[in-house]
Amino acid sequence: MPDATLSLHPRRSARPSGPTRRYSAWSLLREGFNGQRGWAPAWADSVPRPTAYNAIVIGGGGHGLATAYYLAKNHGLNNVALLERGWIGGGNTGRNTTIIRSNYFFPETANFFEFALGLYEGLSRDLNYNIMFSQRGMWMLGHDRHGLEVLRRSANAMRLNGIDAELHDAESVRAHIPGLNRSPRFPILGGLNQPRGGTARHDAVAWGYARAASALGVQIIQNCEVQGFIVERGHVRGVETNLGVIRADTVGMAVAGHSTVLAGKAGVRLPISSYALQAFVSEPIKPCLDTVLLSPATGAYISQSDKGELVIGAGLDLYLSYAQRGSLPWMERAAAGVVELFPAFSRLRFLRQWAGIVDVVHDSTPIIGATDLGGFYVNCGWGTGGFKAIPAGGWCLAHHMATGKAHPLASAFGLDRFRTGALIDEASAAGIAH
Ligand SMILES: Cc1cc2nc3c(=O)[nH]c(=O)nc-3n(C[C@H](O)[C@H](O)[C@H](O)COP(=O)(O)OP(=O)(O)OC[C@H]3O[C@@H](n4cnc5c(N)ncnc54)[C@H](O)[C@@H]3O)c2cc1C
Repeated sequence: MPDATLSLHPRRSARPSGPTRRYSAWSLLREGFNGQRGWAPAWADSVPRPTAYNAIVIGGGGHGLATAYYLAKNHGLNNVALLERGWIGGGNTGRNTTIIRSNYFFPETANFFEFALGLYEGLSRDLNYNIMFSQRGMWMLGHDRHGLEVLRRSANAMRLNGIDAELHDAESVRAHIPGLNRSPRFPILGGLNQPRGGTARHDAVAWGYARAASALGVQIIQNCEVQGFIVERGHVRGVETNLGVIRADTVGMAVAGHSTVLAGKAGVRLPISSYALQAFVSEPIKPCLDTVLLSPATGAYISQSDKGELVIGAGLDLYLSYAQRGSLPWMERAAAGVVELFPAFSRLRFLRQWAGIVDVVHDSTPIIGATDLGGFYVNCGWGTGGFKAIPAGGWCLAHHMATGKAHPLASAFGLDRFRTGALIDEASAAGIAH
């Protein structure tokens, strides 16, 4: 046994208040003097209990973690297991380009994403975890008169929905975003800015929800793959995993690009197709771009991370795939688009390239709610834009799982819209990928 009196920090074990859990300027200072040894682990890594849980959430991405957190926080359910087959935040939540906005067209989607943006605005404080939310604005460029018309229509729709939107002429765009090209091929005729849009650190969103959920008693079980469902008389009673059977009468699923495969094991068919979506970062450079920029005509979108890397997004690989890797044609196309916008970036080198598998619904609107299997709820269909939805997606799925009723904000997002035909076709309405 080590001799406590020989320890460099002998007072640590005698600390009356236990490990430091709350992050604050005071606790940072205190731990600074304590050699940073008093911090409690951010969340407890658990193993499954043999007894039944109140609820199981499958998928340790942002949506699953937020669901578990709001089940505990909003509905007092703390006997909840969160099952993740890899590590939390290792799916699309840790692979996206971190853009947050609510520039949607139809009231149902605009209200939902605006609610998410509102939750993001208070999330660091709510979770006691700095998610580095930076409301640096989100610009869309118009390069021809049709593009400009789409931006005008979007700005009007956003304002009618009570969402901040600013239309700018070419001169004003250039004044706000220095360095833009003056190319005759893609002239800049104007731009639409949502000033409250921006970025957040994606890992921090996952880790912050995990930490806050764990503090409320949620069990986070990593390396636990759900392989099947236990179904009795049309109702789910638990799941089969590589760690054995885990029981609960309420199961929520938030597994993004793997939704059809897993729901299929429960006998539920989802109208979703899975594609790879890629992103890239450049080598880091000094701060030169203080906003998020999307140019639909060149196919490029770009922002600069706090580390200085340019974060560049691309479009979907237009063939079905479960391979989480990029392809050369999109890399070339995204680079060409960025250089078209900012010729000065032509000398930068790419540092990393990756892909995630996204779950695309044909109307580009998510699916949140109950299925035909009793007790089995889904949160999926976020396509290329579910990071910005995480707080609202988790909030609404938790509400449905806990109360058995759809949350009013998500009542239009149920699976029955594919029977009734009440689709919300954001794909064609807003003119950008979601
Ligand atoms: C390159 C790229 C760029 C993007 N850019 C943006 C953007 O700028 N803004 C934006 O809003 N959105 C963006 N998105 C989309 C966004 O990242 C996703 O919509 C969002 O992260 C989905 O979150 P999720 O929690 O549903 O899924 P995920 O984060 O993928 O989490 C699902 C989890 O389920 C786990 N899982 C799967 N199967 C099982 C199983 N059988 N058992 C247990 N666990 C399982 C996976 O391991 C994974 O961790 C982007 C996506 C990509 C790929």
